[in-house]
Amino acid sequence: MLELSSRDFEVIDSLIQFGVFKDIEGYRLDRSKGIILVCCADGDQFHDLYNHECRINLTQRGDNPRIHPLSRNGGILAYQKGNRINRYPDSYLEYMYEIGDSALMKEMPTIVIEGHGPCGAARLKNIILMAQLKTQMEMKAIIRERYSGTDVASHFHVDYKGRNGKDRKTYHFGSAGWAEWYRTQAPKFLAAA
Ligand SMILES: [Zn+2]
Repeated sequence: MLELSSRDFEVIDSLIQFGVFKDIEGYRLDRSKGIILVCCADGDQFHDLYNHECRINLTQRGDNPRIHPLSRNGGILAYQKGNRINRYPDSYLEYMYEIGDSALMKEMPTIVIEGHGPCGAARLKNIILMAQLKTQMEMKAIIRERYSGTDVASHFHVDYKGRNGKDRKTYHFGSAGWAEWYRTQAPKFLAAA
């Protein structure tokens, strides 16, 4: 069974400690028109991730959640130019256009990028958790700039698989604090990898 490593959990614990991973406060984001959910297709995690987003969505949409999932293997990794998750170098472009098309066609100006760990698709291509996180932050900025009329939020879903009595949890993975954390904390994890 795929599990996060103890090193991965050290990274996650550090992100929580430094306030980069936070509890989600759904009301901070306007989800009244629904969300485009950019996430991994992982069949063991999707139900939890999707149901969680539905529950948040319901707080602003009564009993009618609107979630438009764009779920590829590896999620946001597939949208990055040059990322080895894709076999064909230009695939990322098609996926990027898909985000814009979805926002237009569904009239949904809110995009939620949700990474997750452990990610089998990332593991298959030897992409470590730190690289997943870095890509997610870089892609958040790129998507925000490319689709300037949209609001882009970032979440990260962790399957603890019972570690310390925890099951699964989705965190708000914001830009605030990330750059500082990556500069000051990431090197020690990368050096030990
Ligand atoms: Zn995955």
